[in-house]
Amino acid sequence: MELIIGKELKKDYQTGEVAIHALKGVTFSIPKGAFVAIVGPSGSGKTTLLNLIGCLDRPSAGRLMVAGMDVTSFGKTDAAIFRGKHIGFIFQSFNLIPVLTAYENVEYPLVMVQNISASSRRKQVQDLLAAVGMGDQQKKMPDQLSGGQKQRVAVARALVTHPELVLADEPTANLDHDTAMSILALMKQIRKELDTTFVFSTHDSRIIGEAESIYRIEDGFLKTNGNGGGRGHD
Ligand code: ADP
Ligand code: MG
Repeated sequence: MELIIGKELKKDYQTGEVAIHALKGVTFSIPKGAFVAIVGPSGSGKTTLLNLIGCLDRPSAGRLMVAGMDVTSFGKTDAAIFRGKHIGFIFQSFNLIPVLTAYENVEYPLVMVQNISASSRRKQVQDLLAAVGMGDQQKKMPDQLSGGQKQRVAVARALVTHPELVLADEPTANLDHDTAMSILALMKQIRKELDTTFVFSTHDSRIIGEAESIYRIEDGFLKTNGNGGGRGHD
């Protein structure tokens, strides 16, 4: 089953007089449960594509389906509700809330969710912190954690609402090689346990080798599409 289907997706940015054609018509599909790397040089359109899939921005043309919904022309409110239900985000710069503990950062997305008791919320947060290897760091503030530890907390936060899809824009770019590999291994392990679909962008060739499918983007066009195409040629 396809979780994400993009058809002739285009995205233009208007900056003053000049239009930048960031995506020039990309067609692709990503099956449920996939572990996908979107790769390409800086400025090729990776973030733009992830932002569209994550309903953080709207395509200028084309059609986009995510989790069985046509999200192409979602307004701000529909997009926000959809994201809350279906998508978890992991960022390059971790984006933890600095005044909240590790525990509170992971709990945060659940605070908005109705119909969940305090005790099951606590259990969910604690289980996930344990799963990412941060069970004994719950009370630490973000500035007391290393980069790798922060990203572990961010992975837990992205998963706490049990989204079908996790999007990660260069999640390992600020991490050293060993830490980056351990975050990748963590994402893979969780994906196996929870059947979560992961789509992440990277231009680190060592990370690319860990992906199962590679979608290579260059100058706004998709060059290879899925199933390891182009693997090992970054
Ligand atoms: P990548 O993530 O692969 O580095 P991006 O998707 O960020 O690439 O950018 C693709 C192109 O779109 C680049 O030329 C970039 O300068 C341009 N771009 C991205 N975001 C904006 C924006 N908000 N306004 C104008 N141009 C943008
Ligand atoms: Mg980017």
